[in-house]
Amino acid sequence: MSPEFNREDIQRLKGLLTSARTVALVGHLAPDGDALGSTLGMAHVLRGMGKDARVFTPDEPPHYLRVLPGARDIMAFSSFGEKASSWIRNADVVLCMDFNATYRVSRLQPAIENVRGKRVLIDHHENPEHFADLSFSFPPLSSTSELTAHLLKALGWWNRVDTDAATCLMGGIITDTGGFRYNSSMPCLYLVVADLLGKGVNKDRLVRCLVSTTNESAMRLESYALAKKMEVFHDARAALIVLTRDELNSYGYKKGDTEGLVNRPLEIPGIVYSCYLRQEPEYVKVSMRSLADFPVNLLCSRHYGGGGHLNAAGGEFRGTMEECIQLFKDNLQENLKLMSPAALKAADR
Ligand code: 5GP
Ligand code: MN
Repeated sequence: MSPEFNREDIQRLKGLLTSARTVALVGHLAPDGDALGSTLGMAHVLRGMGKDARVFTPDEPPHYLRVLPGARDIMAFSSFGEKASSWIRNADVVLCMDFNATYRVSRLQPAIENVRGKRVLIDHHENPEHFADLSFSFPPLSSTSELTAHLLKALGWWNRVDTDAATCLMGGIITDTGGFRYNSSMPCLYLVVADLLGKGVNKDRLVRCLVSTTNESAMRLESYALAKKMEVFHDARAALIVLTRDELNSYGYKKGDTEGLVNRPLEIPGIVYSCYLRQEPEYVKVSMRSLADFPVNLLCSRHYGGGGHLNAAGGEFRGTMEECIQLFKDNLQENLKLMSPAALKAADR
């Protein structure tokens, strides 16, 4: 029921971490609850073992993730610069968590490509690059935080998981499942969830802070986007939301304010996939979500040089917003061919 780890891999990981003095835990650009939850959760355990374990991200995490214990101590490259890179390069072990390709860590990429110690990948994204000395890649799992919990059990270190570590791991699970709404139908998830609750995690508070919290301007921006900017293509089973820089600015947009917006059109019966285009200064940020087996990661890699999961993917389009919108509309018919009976059934409820 739980993921089947290779026994030798687990022994190697145990050996590496046990003999390490310094461990760098690295999360991806625009860190989300899972990137932070998995790295911080593991860092708490390693510190409890007397290791000097530090968490690094390319940029600062959003404010709402401060509910995760230790989030304030993260070393973001945007604040620490070369000091962060050199710490990673010199660490005994570098844990690359919640990302599958080195470019996902942006300005920390040179550091993780030139480490003195060993690199370990711990991740749940499809098609991982082979850049690590040891890899734990489990795409069917809800989150890297869930994977980390299974790993800690397999390592025999579950007794070292305290309330802070458990809170971080549960936070990552809650973020990546939208509060147990999606990607969360595997029984093995609930085995670790039950054990995390046993560590004293306040699950309801985490759901409130991580899923059911917004701010006034973000709420108004989402309402505007849905009321005035959502285009529904019923025949194509798709929806599109476009926000220009001017619109974002007029609502005082801050990073993260439209998190979740792209999911909303999937609440409409009949819609199989949803796309949100946000104008950034240098590119158009593409976000896609889908139901069942409709592969938005394929669309994102095919058209926008991006990728991600089957049901949640993204990319950056280097062209004008008009071109990006046209590209989306031009592909509506073609995309219908990717629609399985299961996807249609999921959409029609
Ligand atoms: P979001 O729409 O929240 O930005 O991204 C959803 C998921 O798509 C992310 O968890 C990540 O796996 C993937 N993703 C987003 N942007 C990119 C991108 O530019 N490149 C790749 N390869 N994946 C992305
Ligand atoms: Mn994740």
